[in-house]
Amino acid sequence: MAGEFDLIRDFFRDATAQRDDVVLGIGDDCALLEAPVGKQLAVSMDTLVVGRHFVTDVDPELLGHKALAVNLSDLAAMGATPAWVTLSLTLPDADAEWVKRFMVGFAALAKHYQLTLIGGDTTRGPLAITVQVHGFVDPEKSLRRDAAKIGDLIYVTGQLGDAGLALMAQQGLYVKQGCLASLKQRLDRPEPRIELGRAATTHSRCAIDLSDGLGSDLGHICEESNVGALIYLDKLPMSDAVAEYVAESGDWSLPLLAGDDYELCMTVPAQHQAAFEAAMQQQEVPVTWIGMIEQGEQVRAMSPNGDVDAYVARGYDHFAN
Ligand code: ADP
Ligand code: MG
Repeated sequence: MAGEFDLIRDFFRDATAQRDDVVLGIGDDCALLEAPVGKQLAVSMDTLVVGRHFVTDVDPELLGHKALAVNLSDLAAMGATPAWVTLSLTLPDADAEWVKRFMVGFAALAKHYQLTLIGGDTTRGPLAITVQVHGFVDPEKSLRRDAAKIGDLIYVTGQLGDAGLALMAQQGLYVKQGCLASLKQRLDRPEPRIELGRAATTHSRCAIDLSDGLGSDLGHICEESNVGALIYLDKLPMSDAVAEYVAESGDWSLPLLAGDDYELCMTVPAQHQAAFEAAMQQQEVPVTWIGMIEQGEQVRAMSPNGDVDAYVARGYDHFAN
């Protein structure tokens, strides 16, 4: 068993990218940081708790990736550039092998985005992980939930429902040969859409990342912006596996309501449509038009036969009964 200070020395210091704006990193009472002049700081925190967000025997490397990825997804949804991260680990015991593997997943993603681990806390208790990320964004260019306007076009990145289908498969609710390995990747290793979010700031002012599901997360945009939304189910981008599930079951809840995809939903004024779509074609991830911001306060979904259903969609509420 390692001690707290051994863990810090062996696995947290120097684990991630080196940056010139970190004047003093891990090892003192505080980190000292030089924020760039003329930028705003974008700050976000997420906690993952054992038994609630993951199971006890989860692969620590995947958990390290996911704990950071879900936070970076929030920066992506603001159009921010990642810079610094803090990490609070609550561990049942000082299991050095577990921490080492957790940091493999965490550090690989951090380095990819030139992100420095600048501090944190290590305590004993039921396994829980809190990550806080800090990024930079140009004033006036952040992507906010309250900035959608009536007439804006609605777009999403990637494909919807993969993580939901993987979760169903994991729980034994969906059995199918073949497609499950790639779906499992989508659930375990979400890729934050950082570059795409930054590129979108040229033409969009409004985005959210899809952690709770499209209906619910687009619902947050509607609520904050005082607008409604109409989306077309037959436009929702889906993998073959999800499309097959929808075709067989007639159930659209996977692409519409399932969470954990960590794609971006963005709104774009109509006069920027051509420029936005051209810019998005430079990105690795496909970006698909799915509907319009309209008057109202609901997310409405039109099915291929023309029926319209309204959703007063709510996100996952940890305190709901
Ligand atoms: P203090 O007692 O002053 O809070 P700690 O002993 O908790 O200091 O931490 C010592 C140093 O190690 C600090 O710089 C702190 O930010 C860093 N640190 C502790 N735990 C972590 C962690 N899980 N990840 C990154 N840095 C950590
Ligand atoms: Mg401390």
